[in-house]
Order: sequence, then C-alpha cells, then structure tokens
Amino acid sequence: MGIIQAIRGTRDLLPEDIVYWQKVESVTRKLLTQAAYQEIRTPIFEGTDLFERGIGENTDVVGKEMYTFLDRGDRSLTLRPEGTAGVVRSYIEHKLHGQGGVQRLWYTGPMFRYERPQAGRQRQFHQIGVELLGSASARADVEVIALANDLLGNLGLKNLTLSLNSVGNGEDRQNYREALVNYLSPYQQELDKDSQERLQRNPLRILDSKDQRTQEIAQNAPQIWQYLGENSRKHFDTVQQLLTELGIAYQLNHCLVRGLDYYSHTAFEIQSSDLGAQATVCGGGRYDGLVSQLGGPETPAVGWAIGMERLILLLQQIQPKPLPELDFYLVSRGEKAESQALILAHKLRKLDFSVELDLSGSAFNKQFKRADRSGAAICLVLGDEEAHKQTVNLKWMGTKEQQAIAQTELLGMVEQLRQQIEAQKNPVI
Ligand code: ATP
Ligand code: MG
Repeated sequence: MGIIQAIRGTRDLLPEDIVYWQKVESVTRKLLTQAAYQEIRTPIFEGTDLFERGIGENTDVVGKEMYTFLDRGDRSLTLRPEGTAGVVRSYIEHKLHGQGGVQRLWYTGPMFRYERPQAGRQRQFHQIGVELLGSASARADVEVIALANDLLGNLGLKNLTLSLNSVGNGEDRQNYREALVNYLSPYQQELDKDSQERLQRNPLRILDSKDQRTQEIAQNAPQIWQYLGENSRKHFDTVQQLLTELGIAYQLNHCLVRGLDYYSHTAFEIQSSDLGAQATVCGGGRYDGLVSQLGGPETPAVGWAIGMERLILLLQQIQPKPLPELDFYLVSRGEKAESQALILAHKLRKLDFSVELDLSGSAFNKQFKRADRSGAAICLVLGDEEAHKQTVNLKWMGTKEQQAIAQTELLGMVEQLRQQIEAQKNPVI
C-alpha cells in the first residue's frame, strides 16, 4: 500500500520548526499586547458570500483561489483565504463598535488559497494580522505600520523595504481612473491577458500586475498622487510626516494599489530582498468602506497581514536552530536505578524544572550521547551503585563538572540549581 502524504501546498510543522513559530508568536503577543491590541479568533470557514462581499468577486482570491464547497446541508462554505473579512463580520455581529472609541484587534491562524505552491507560497499558509477599527486618523495608519515594522525588527530581520502609496477616496479614484484608462488604452494589446480584461472593469488593478511588460507600462502611467483631493492629500502627507518623525524609512510606489471601492488612502507593503520571488512579507492598508459594505455602521479602519511562512524563512536565515530549553536529562540503567530515576524526574517536574527521562535502558554511553543532544543543562546519572546508596551523579553539561550527591540533598538545593541553570542556559533565539 502507498504511503499517505500531506496534500500538495500544505506542510507539517515538525518539532524542529515549531521553535521558530513559538518564538514569532510570543514576540507578537508581547508587542501587540503592549500596544493594547486584543486577540480575536474567528472560525476557519465562513459562508462564501462573506468573502464575495468582503474581498470582492473580481479579485484573484475570490475568483480563482478559494476553497469553496457545499456542506451536507447544501450551504456554500469557504475556507477563509484571509483574516479581515471574518474579523469584520464578528465585529459587526457582536456589535464591538457599540463599545465606543476604537477597537484594536489581532489574530493569527491558517488561511487557504488554491495557488501554485512554491517557496513562500502554499495552499494552507498562516497569517498574523491586526485591524484597528474606528479611527480615520493618519496616526492610526502610522500606528499599525510602526507595529509591523517593530515586529519584524524585534525578530532581528534586516533588508526590509516599506513601500507606501495612497489610493485616495472614491472620488479621487474616479478622476484618476479616466486618466489611467486613457494612458493604458493604446497599450491594450501589450498588456497581459488579465490586465486586458481589467482595462474597463477595474483598471487600477493593472498597476499591480505581476507580468513584466505590464509592469513596465504601468511604471510610466500617470500617478494617482496628482488626482488626490485636498483631504486625501493631507492624509497622505501626514502619514509620511509621522513616519519620518518615527524614523521609519519608506519608499513611495504609485503602482501599489488595492483595487476595490472600500479601500481608501494608505496602502503599504513590506518586502524583503532575502526572499526571492515571493518577496512581500506584509501587506496592509486602510479600508474605510468595508464595515458598511458588510452591513455594519460606517467605520473607518486600517490593518495589515504578515505571512508567517515567509517570515519564518527569513528568521531561519539569520538564526541557527535553537536547542530546546531543558533543565535535566536523566540517564539510568538497572531495574532499581530506572525506577528511582522515574520518581526523581517526577519530583523535579513538581519543583518546576523541565526534565527528560531516558527510557531506552541502553548502554550508558548511548544515553550520554542523547543527553548531549538534548540541550539539557544538567545530566543526572543513576546506576546500580547510586541506586543502592540513594545518591545521584550530577554532571553539568556545559563545564563537565561532576559531583555525587544524595537524592534528598539534590531536591533540597533547588533554588541554588535554578540560579546556576539560568546562568548557563542557551539563549533560545
Ligand atoms: P502575493 O502577492 O504574494 O500573492 P497577496 O497580495 O496575495 O500576496 P495578501 O492577501 O496581502 O497577499 O496577504 C498578506 C501576506 O500573506 C502576503 O504578503 C504574504 O506574506 C502572505 N501570503 C499570501 N498568500 C500566501 C500564500 N499562498 N502562501 C504563503 N503566504 C502567503
Ligand atoms: Mg496572492
């Protein structure tokens, strides 16, 4: 019989990967909690119409990439392709807007898109995202951008570029659209196929085409900045001024767009030059029209999503694989010694130490090798002689210092041991 394998575009996260994931999760939780963001967890599947209305039927995500199916009650359900639509649905459903002021939310979890799998692009992938709902201030845009920047910075990532644009409001885009279509029309035959179709329907999206020739044409297109009304211009200027005051470098890119009506003003991306083709780690922007589009009250909002897989690819490039944080590794051989080791391990765990017990019963040298690989600070050794005298041989793995002590004495010197272990611990990423 053939071996059953994980589905194309999905990946198991093995224990050696998980250390990185847990690191990212703990740095994220700490940073976002400090900034008064609260975690929210919404279901992994939703009604298909939520994404059709919340992302837009003309987008690649909704048009080509969704995992949509009928359940046994003939409802059309979709595995969420991104996090914002579900968070906004929940925000409306639970009237979180009724609490007044702004809501700062964050989430993390798996997302699903039917795409061609390659490095940094999967069918099940994970995002961390934030949504700041209820503020139209440019300070809100800058707050979320600074958080993305700090998160990546706190993880030690380098070679990142923040690209920034404004897509104005609906009226600005209406004016710009005309100029853009006039410019692009003579090039119609040279555009990629998707872009040709978008020329009348949604020309702004042509600007972020991934096709090389289309990109060259887009580079010289009229820039939306010339079409921004006074308020949009002011918002965009303030965002830039505040970023500068915070010392956050950025590049303006007039081709960075989000083509749907409910997007407004700020659009941004953070890219890494260390990721190859899938360079975008973070994408975000302002979506002032989305909450009302989904049936809630008019609510300005801004947010971003970071792709976890891409982030972790970067982290692995700069951080060597950390060893697990383990206090004790217990080696024992012989019936009596083995049962005493089991009891000792149990007592040490109750005293709040982390302990791995070697269960192999194999020769001491084999157990010692495993102790070395375990990353433990201390190896405790029990053989027949120790078992008989109720002692244990304590070996510091760092210095190789050894001492024989009574088991009761070991348990009595926990505070001293704890301090010594802390002083030696391998700094986990
Ligand atoms: P891309 O242009 O790479 O397809 P996108 O514009 O579709 O990205 P968003 O919807 O803005 O991406 O999602 C935010 C982030 O989520 C991306 O910047 C990326 O880091 C990550 N991401 C998106 N799709 C995938 C995927 N299929 N596999 C892994 N990560 C992804
Ligand atoms: Mg995509």
